[in-house]
Amino acid sequence: MSFVVRCLDCGHAAPYFPSSVNCPRCNSQWREAEYEYSTLEDFIPDQLSARPFDLWRYRELLPIRNPNPSLSLGEGGSPLIRAVNLGMMLGIPNLFIKDERQGPTGSFKDRQAAVTIAALKEAGITEMVAASTGNVAIAYSAYAARAGIKLWAFVTSLVPAVKMREIALYGSQVIKVTASYDQAKQLAAEFARQRNLYLDIGARTITSIEAMKTIAFEISEQLTILLGPPANGAPQRWRTPDWYVQAVSGGMGPLGVYKGFRELRQMGLVDRIPAIAPIQAEGCAPMVTSWKKGLEQAEPVNTPRTHIETLATGNPGRAYTLLRKQVNETSGVFESATDEETYRAMHVLAKMEGVSVEPAAGVAFAGLFKLVRAGVIKPTDVVVVNCTGHTMPAEPYILGDNWSRNVVLPSRAEDKPQDGLLAALSSVAPDRFSRVVIVDDSPESRRLIRRILQSQGDFQIQEAPDGKTGLELIQKEPPDLIILDLMMPEMDGFAVLDVLKARPETAEIPVIVASAKELTPEEKNRLAGQIQALMQKGDFLNDEFLDEVRSLIR
Ligand SMILES: *Cc1c(COP(=O)(O)O)cnc(C)c1O
Ligand SMILES: [Zn+2]
Repeated sequence: MSFVVRCLDCGHAAPYFPSSVNCPRCNSQWREAEYEYSTLEDFIPDQLSARPFDLWRYRELLPIRNPNPSLSLGEGGSPLIRAVNLGMMLGIPNLFIKDERQGPTGSFKDRQAAVTIAALKEAGITEMVAASTGNVAIAYSAYAARAGIKLWAFVTSLVPAVKMREIALYGSQVIKVTASYDQAKQLAAEFARQRNLYLDIGARTITSIEAMKTIAFEISEQLTILLGPPANGAPQRWRTPDWYVQAVSGGMGPLGVYKGFRELRQMGLVDRIPAIAPIQAEGCAPMVTSWKKGLEQAEPVNTPRTHIETLATGNPGRAYTLLRKQVNETSGVFESATDEETYRAMHVLAKMEGVSVEPAAGVAFAGLFKLVRAGVIKPTDVVVVNCTGHTMPAEPYILGDNWSRNVVLPSRAEDKPQDGLLAALSSVAPDRFSRVVIVDDSPESRRLIRRILQSQGDFQIQEAPDGKTGLELIQKEPPDLIILDLMMPEMDGFAVLDVLKARPETAEIPVIVASAKELTPEEKNRLAGQIQALMQKGDFLNDEFLDEVRSLIR
């Protein structure tokens, strides 16, 4: 496939060589790959069905002349997971997680490394230098090992030691720099210049942007399968989400994803580009603050104040200016989240979706929660959050101290070993759990409430799919708490409440009403004095719900 590298400043087109990073005419380093899209229009989708679901299925749109399968670790092709529980809690049913944790080294940097190392190998380059906050160096190291390329990895001393060791394990040379990430980058650049080595230049690297754009291709293909093709008669063939949400440091991810959607639009496969929502850690959010101030150039943050080192790019430079244009053009937003909000979001995500992420990825979810609460992301929107990296090891901050119950068994065999076991187990859980009855006609809502309760304590939970069954359950054995839906066919929640309150055996049982819809003032009046708490969508994200449950049961 023929392609050129087009200068973003002077428009000059030149052939691509990984080692020549400047425009031959104006010396700019801001350039991008350009393909003959018109000839690809019909070609790409028809070829795809016969190809494996990995990044190389889009090889005609990647800047590699001869993809080399022996370098591959199975990069790309990550699942797009529907976040059913989280979507319900937030009131956005079409919430999807692009699970980049499943890349070969556990982060979306694998795409960047796979394509860049392939290009370097093709160009005969055998040594390279990169500055990293961890994941880039891990990904490059793995692919460099396969390709026979030596990597000098400049990492800041704040990078977790497990990540540094992984870089070293792959045979790369780790250089630990006690300074900011921006300073580590300068040091790496100087080292590369002195030795005349290939230097990774972050978001300006042609292959990195090209690699990231495959995320957009995959999302469009996957959404088309999950949600069905666009409406009959629509000219485009693939689907675009309404939002692409990602935690951002230097901005390479969203820049690449935007380009991916732009190319799909050029080829007529989609009709629009999603709103882009880059989320930064509040303690190092130069893009967010500059965007909110309406600045075209980023004001650097010289001293990042976040524990989330992966996102500690204080000076995004021109990447911000480019990304700002794209965010504005797509009616997107820049948002930030504190470390605290991030840890909470990570915990909710793990408990509700079984997805454990590293803090840098958690930032995207904390940002998502904020944007939904603020009404920026609407209930009908199709939202894709990039889950950029895996928790390894699990973050100690999140769980606090009481996350395990410890059992010590007597070491020597006793006369009655059974007694020892039973005594030990009595410390694991109380003999009697508080009984909670959930009356709700939606199986998804029942599952959500069950999940929230069971992830946070010891409850015996019973479910009833309608008012009548609920009353029977409650009357047979009065529970400690009732969680009641209002809108149910035949016997609704109001009618259930009337019966409960009319009978002395059930009149005193605390009731929490959980409602998917906003109640009218009249409805609220009818409930007054009858129930202990009213919970609506979104409230479930707060710890309030559980606090309420606990206080009512005690
Ligand atoms: C690198 C990284 C980011 C930020 O990505 P950019 O698009 O380069 O800003 C987010 N999350 C994780 C896990 C990362 O490794
Ligand atoms: Zn130029």
